Amino acid sequence: MNRQILMLYTGGTIGMAPSNGGYVPAGDFGRRLTRHLGHRASEMPAFDVLELDRLIDSANLSPTHWPTLAQALVERWDRYDGFVVLHGTDTLSYTAGALAYMLKGCDKPVILTGAQIPLERTRTDALDNLMTALSLAADPGLAEVCVYFGGKLIRGTRARKLKTSELDAFDSPNFPLLGRTGIDFQLRHELLLPPSEPRFQLPDFQPDSVVALTLFPGIPATMVSAALALPSLQGLILHTYGSGNAPDANTGLIEALDQAIRRGVTVVNVSQCLHGLVAQKAYASGAALDRIGVIPGSDLTPEAAFTKLHFLLATGHRGTALREAFQSPLCGDSTALT
Ligand code: ASP
Repeated sequence: MNRQILMLYTGGTIGMAPSNGGYVPAGDFGRRLTRHLGHRASEMPAFDVLELDRLIDSANLSPTHWPTLAQALVERWDRYDGFVVLHGTDTLSYTAGALAYMLKGCDKPVILTGAQIPLERTRTDALDNLMTALSLAADPGLAEVCVYFGGKLIRGTRARKLKTSELDAFDSPNFPLLGRTGIDFQLRHELLLPPSEPRFQLPDFQPDSVVALTLFPGIPATMVSAALALPSLQGLILHTYGSGNAPDANTGLIEALDQAIRRGVTVVNVSQCLHGLVAQKAYASGAALDRIGVIPGSDLTPEAAFTKLHFLLATGHRGTALREAFQSPLCGDSTALT
């Protein structure tokens, strides 16, 4: 069966070129890729390349870009069997989460990938990543948003960039890999999301409605209050210690969080640790957060927590409905807390 894939090129190292000020996104990716693929092109699933008008170094990406990227896929959904999104690695995990939530129930593969070394450099990892991503996008057994990078297939809502200088930059710290490359590609079918009905929702994201704050020893309460005083603020992702603990002895900090929650700001607790769950009541220092109504973020990655909260706010969830929706696993993003 001839499968047709759409490759959406958004920018990122994979297609970057050197400039006087360092690497910058470069266009005309389709033609450059054809030259580099050479005879291998005939062994690949057929694909078209769609290039953004304004290519992005993903460090510059904002939540307003997410629905634009999703729209580019949704407009062409019926014409293709699968999708590859070429993206910078810096915020690729955020886009993977946002796309997974917006394309909930998607019935075709959407594979995000990129590279640590640009296409035109010797020893580039671009072709390996891109060719495997294309094959995965042509797999009729796959129907979810995933990241493929450096030999690993990762659920989109579970992916994190963990390495700056190694080629397998991404991992899935809190969930098994969906697949791995060897001589053949080993796909773990038993872990894949079951096919369902597409329920696409592409809301307008308000970039300044959610912020993230990392706790550190000695964090001033005034800094937390200042963040919580942003007039547009609706949600805060708090990166806590260990199993979800915060300095409860810092009464100013707990008070600032308490007041914000009373005003309607949603505060979510995710751990700074890579592995394991938030258990907000295990220590008195975590229980202080529980008492004031902070939502425990289970084993969500910080990126998934951030994009999930953005998505739920942008789709109109508030109060108890927001709390319940946030705590329910969505697109396989987390373990349900009992
Ligand atoms: N700054 C680049 C980007 O995220 C880094 C990369 O692609 O690896 O667009």
